[in-house]
Amino acid sequence: LTPFNLKQHISEYRQDPLSGRWVIIAEERANRPNQFDAVAETQEESWHRNCPFCPGHEKETPEEIDAIRPEDSRENDSRWLARVVPNRFPAITRDCPWNNGLLPHFGETFFFHKTAIPGYGAHEVLIESPRHLFSVTEFDDVEILNMFRLYQKRLQSLRSENHWGHVLIFKNVGAAAGASLSHTHSQLMAMPFVPPPILNELRHATEFRENKHRCYWCDMIKHELSEKVRVVAESEHFLLICPFACRFPMEISIFPKEHVSHFESLSENRVDELAFFVRKSVQILEKAVYWTREPLSYNMILKSAPFQTSSFDPEIYHFHLTILPSLAKAAGFEWGTGLHINPISPETAATKLREFV
Ligand SMILES: [Zn+2]
Ligand SMILES: [Zn+2]
Repeated sequence: LTPFNLKQHISEYRQDPLSGRWVIIAEERANRPNQFDAVAETQEESWHRNCPFCPGHEKETPEEIDAIRPEDSRENDSRWLARVVPNRFPAITRDCPWNNGLLPHFGETFFFHKTAIPGYGAHEVLIESPRHLFSVTEFDDVEILNMFRLYQKRLQSLRSENHWGHVLIFKNVGAAAGASLSHTHSQLMAMPFVPPPILNELRHATEFRENKHRCYWCDMIKHELSEKVRVVAESEHFLLICPFACRFPMEISIFPKEHVSHFESLSENRVDELAFFVRKSVQILEKAVYWTREPLSYNMILKSAPFQTSSFDPEIYHFHLTILPSLAKAAGFEWGTGLHINPISPETAATKLREFV
């Protein structure tokens, strides 16, 4: 008898024992509609009529978890400025058996395959604007501030639940970046453990600190600011660079210049400064890749420190935001080796991007 059954659990985390790689098996995801497939891109109007994220369609999403609303509006009514709802087609869910929030021991006997655990987690959708917008560069000041305030609100709230290991917030813009709906939105996934690649970063940052008594990222930022070749732009407290070993052409990252591990602990002024700086950074990117005929698709990933791990001090982490434009796809070599071939060096990319600051 198998201890876990996909039919009971909706989804499962499974680990490949040799590579250590984790996957999520989530058959429910196959049922989600893809607006980019279903509707020709010229039919803007029908997008609006059928969009589950436009005001007036609140019943087409699960009930809201959180929102930014005018005082005289009520939960789930149509007068919201930004709202958060559970994903209708979740990859992981709170609705599955969980040992009081404790991670069951890995390696329970599961015939030959040893490691599978129920797909416990939270999968939320953050709709940052009632307007049917595509990219953050179309956001007005209130919309871009609401986006980052909502990120912070959700992280603070999930952190206070005290049983999540890590929360990832990301935003897929455009079909080429994996979005299935065109109305602007971000997603959040809270997991009971810290994904191995993030643990790996923490492991190396811990080693660096033990040797040099400093933060790896703080040192890296100092170095980039002195060398300048990969720096694109800066605001008072934030820096935009093309990372030294970037995987994709025109990949960019934004770092706070001073050490901050958790995005949710950033002061309100700094959150506002970051919000405007992110919008400006994407503007620079969109102008610099004018050769793409379509509006630019991209992934934006907020890499904030894990809430808790038993192995490392999460305060060592230096939060940052990475934006990956969908200009190149991973192919056979990348899948086979994990090595990305990037045809544009970060030094060339930074030179190009600086023209549009
Ligand atoms: Zn919409
Ligand atoms: Zn640092």
